[in-house]
Amino acid sequence: MAMTRRRLLALAGAPAARLAPALAPRRERYDVCIVGSGAGGGMAAYALTQAGADVVLLEAGPEWYSERDSAMLTAAADSPRRGAATKERQFGEFDACLGGWEVDGEPYTLAPGTEFGWWRARMLGGRTNHWGRYSFRFGPDDFRGRSVDGLGDDWPIGYDDLAPYYDRLDRFIGLFGSNEGLRNHPDGIFLPPPRPRCYELLVQQVSRRLGIPCIPNRMSVLTRPHNGRPACHYCGQCNRGCGVNANFSSPGVFIKPALATGRLTLVTGAMAREVTVDAAGRATGVSYVNKATGADEHVRARVVVLAASACESARLLLNSRSSRFPDGLGNSGGVVGRYLTDTTGTDVGGFIPRMADHVPHNEDGAGGSHVYMPWWLDNRKLDFPRGYHIEVWGGLGQPSYGFMGAIHQYPGGGGYGKQLKGDYRRYYGATIGFSGRGEMVPNDDSWCEIDHEVVDRWGIPVLRFHWKWSDHELNQVRHMQRTFRALIAEMGGEVFAPMPTKQEGYGIAPGGRIIHELGTTRMGRDPSRSVVNPDCRVHGVPNLFVTDGGPFVSQADKNPTWTIMALAWRASDHIAAQRKAGAL
Ligand SMILES: Cc1cc2nc3c(=O)[nH]c(=O)nc-3n(C[C@H](O)[C@H](O)[C@H](O)COP(=O)(O)OP(=O)(O)OC[C@H]3O[C@@H](n4cnc5c(N)ncnc54)[C@H](O)[C@@H]3O)c2cc1C
Ligand code: SF4
Repeated sequence: MAMTRRRLLALAGAPAARLAPALAPRRERYDVCIVGSGAGGGMAAYALTQAGADVVLLEAGPEWYSERDSAMLTAAADSPRRGAATKERQFGEFDACLGGWEVDGEPYTLAPGTEFGWWRARMLGGRTNHWGRYSFRFGPDDFRGRSVDGLGDDWPIGYDDLAPYYDRLDRFIGLFGSNEGLRNHPDGIFLPPPRPRCYELLVQQVSRRLGIPCIPNRMSVLTRPHNGRPACHYCGQCNRGCGVNANFSSPGVFIKPALATGRLTLVTGAMAREVTVDAAGRATGVSYVNKATGADEHVRARVVVLAASACESARLLLNSRSSRFPDGLGNSGGVVGRYLTDTTGTDVGGFIPRMADHVPHNEDGAGGSHVYMPWWLDNRKLDFPRGYHIEVWGGLGQPSYGFMGAIHQYPGGGGYGKQLKGDYRRYYGATIGFSGRGEMVPNDDSWCEIDHEVVDRWGIPVLRFHWKWSDHELNQVRHMQRTFRALIAEMGGEVFAPMPTKQEGYGIAPGGRIIHELGTTRMGRDPSRSVVNPDCRVHGVPNLFVTDGGPFVSQADKNPTWTIMALAWRASDHIAAQRKAGAL
């Protein structure tokens, strides 16, 4: 690597000393109070401060700026843990997420028989600091699932409503990709994609033979300097947070320019408890726990925007009970917490003999795959209703703790000393794998509610989850397994693990484990069947909005975050217009 860390930090253009410190609320009343600073909250903070609003942002976690806090370019060998996971860093010591499947003092509960995992970030920027940055638009059919196959519900808005906001995101944030003209995978305004790595070329070759499209990935990583941010230098470590902000994270791309307007007050360590309302049913602000002192505090605002993540915002609405709203806000139809979905997922990896004994070369690239496979089949000819896309993995990533575990499964692998070292060299880069990411149809058995028996360390009642996959998802995942095994066989490879059985759910990841929870405050025109209207405004509360994954009516075979941000920008535009008109 030619660049030093110091030089990289200089490139980032915002040394730690110049980052604005978090403040306590300073105004009697703000124009807008936003809860949560991740994808949805950061987007709203950016758009609303640009529109001239005085905004206070309540964030449960501490400040975190990648140019100051990222472990980019740290070698695993420099740490005695060699990058292994810790209780605080559950995806590895260098991963850029404070939080995890369990957060100290903040439990959630599971209904009997339920298997569900809830990943929570507690930091400025939320999960956008370490997310995969696969940035896909939903396609036209993704907003009209019921019209296509009679399942779930249609959205009250369509692709054309969001297209201008997807365009704005592409232009402002920047992402690489290629225009392919695929019907339900809309093109975008892309920077050039990086070239495929060696193993990705092999995957492209065999997928072509099997009739599966394998195209350049679409990731919010800059391959050219863009809007004052430098291009990626291909260290392959996006999940650690990018020290030069060449990839998208909310603090680097949304929060910093919002602070620069002088109209954003950032309050970190503020755990929101409930939205307060007046006698007329309008939101008056948010009460929160100051985590440093444990004291209850309150901030007043003309408009409240919840963006604490889909399940946490549902929790806040359900915990905001009053005589006027005994079941919580937006819950007159009992819909808050219902329609919870996650992406389906399963993985298969295999040993590819022709990749053994490779010529050593650097193929670090962007921090994720340079290619992917969008959904390519017609569900009318299959035994499941919705599609999936395929993510590809392999290559020569930086070795760290657990590297090439189970080496004894490779031909002649294992043993001791020189032979073992030789085997590691021989088989390094000879594993290729696939992860399916598919659409789940909302069902009546998958939802969350308040568990009135349990409170967290702040005295706030916690969520209880219910979860069940239906045959739609199980059949889809069986198809993924068969496809991935066919791809590996076509490469002349060997899969060590047998095909999972029906009793094993065909290898489907438990609910929540793909970390794409959506739908808990879904959008619609009818308050008895939805929580927010098409502008993301909570039914029955004229100045309360939700801008995270909660308003989604359905998943898609695409990852959700580009759509979360498009919806948040659209809702923010609506708030700004209503404020200008004097209605908010
Ligand atoms: C490892 C990983 C990889 C991923 N990869 C992709 C991908 O490639 N593509 C994709 O589209 N999506 C991906 N995702 C999902 C993506 O990160 C989420 O969809 C997105 O971050 C959701 O945005 P959000 O604003 O709803 O929530 P978050 O980004 O989680 O932000 C929520 C914020 O609210 C704060 N908060 C929570 N509760 C409170 C409270 N009570 N009071 C105050 N603040 C609170 C949190 O601290 C946090 O900062 C990935 C997620 C993970 C974990
Ligand atoms: S791969 Fe590129 S975008 Fe990702 S952390 Fe490295 S330099 Fe930043």
